[in-house]
Amino acid sequence: MEAHTLAPEEHFIREEPYYEPVGQEIGIFEAAYRNKLPVLLKGPTGCGKTRFMEYMAWRLKRPLITVSCHDDLTASDLVGRFLVKGGETVWVDGPLARAVRAGGICYLDEIVEARKDTMVVIHPLADDRRALPMEKLGTLLEADDNFCLAISYNPGYQSVLKDLKQSTRQRFVALEFNYPAAELERKIVSTESGVAPEIAEKLVKFAQMTRNLKGSGLEEGASTRLLVHAAKLIASHIEPVAACQSAIAQALTDDEEMLAAVQELSSSLF
Ligand code: ADP
Repeated sequence: MEAHTLAPEEHFIREEPYYEPVGQEIGIFEAAYRNKLPVLLKGPTGCGKTRFMEYMAWRLKRPLITVSCHDDLTASDLVGRFLVKGGETVWVDGPLARAVRAGGICYLDEIVEARKDTMVVIHPLADDRRALPMEKLGTLLEADDNFCLAISYNPGYQSVLKDLKQSTRQRFVALEFNYPAAELERKIVSTESGVAPEIAEKLVKFAQMTRNLKGSGLEEGASTRLLVHAAKLIASHIEPVAACQSAIAQALTDDEEMLAAVQELSSSLF
C-alpha cells in the first residue's frame, strides 16, 4: 500500500493576494491559528471569505487546501479511499487528510451542504484531539502542529436541515463577514476591475438597492463578487446597464418582474 499525496507546495500561495481587512479578522485568525483553534467564517456568498483564506494562507506561509462542499460530499471524499490502479489497490488521501499530514490550512467552504457523516471526521479534528479518524485504514491520523481547520457557513440560507449544529459550531472561533462598508467596497471594486471611482460608487449604490430587496423578491442582494464581475465587464467597454443586467440581475433571479425592477434601478443610476 502506498500513500499517494499531492505535494503540499502545490497549494502554497506565492504572491500576496489583494485583501482589504474589514475589521479585526486578520489578528483574530492569526491568534486562533497560533492557539491551534479551528475557525468558522460566517457570512453571505461573495463577501470575501475565500479571498481572506487565501490571504491568511499566504501570510502564515501554509499551503491552502480548499474544498467546496456539496450535497454528495461524504467523509470518504475528505479522508480518502482505496483505488485500484494497474491491478493494485492503493490508498489515496483525500484533501482533508493531505492538509492534516502536510500541516496545511484546510478550508471547507459551505460546510452545511456536505453529508452529515462528514461531521464524524470534523469533530475530532476541531477539538483538543486534533486527530483525523481514518476508518478504512483503521488509524487515527494526528494533525501536524501547523494544521488548521477553517469552515464557512452562510447563516442566510438557514433551514432546519441546513443549520450548523451547536455541537459543531461550539468548537470553532467564529468570524463574521458581511459586505464591506460602502467606501471600502468602492475601493475593492475599482482595484479589482480598474473602473473609475465614479463607476465603482454607482455599482455599490446599486448593490445596496438590491440588498434592500432581500426577503421581498430576492433571496440575496448583489454580493461584492457580482459587483466586481459587472465592473470588469464595464472596464471591457460593456455599457453599464447591460453589464449590471448580465453580471448582477440575471445572476440573482430568474423572475421576469424582479429582473425588470432591478433593471429599472440600474437605469436610474447609469
Ligand atoms: P466568498 O468566499 O465569501 O463567497 P470571495 O472571497 O470569493 O467570496 O469574494 C468574492 C470577490 O469579492 C473576490 O474575488 C474579490 O474580488 C472581492 N472581495 C470581497 N471582499 C474583499 C476584500 N475584503 N478584499 C479584497 N477583495 C474582496
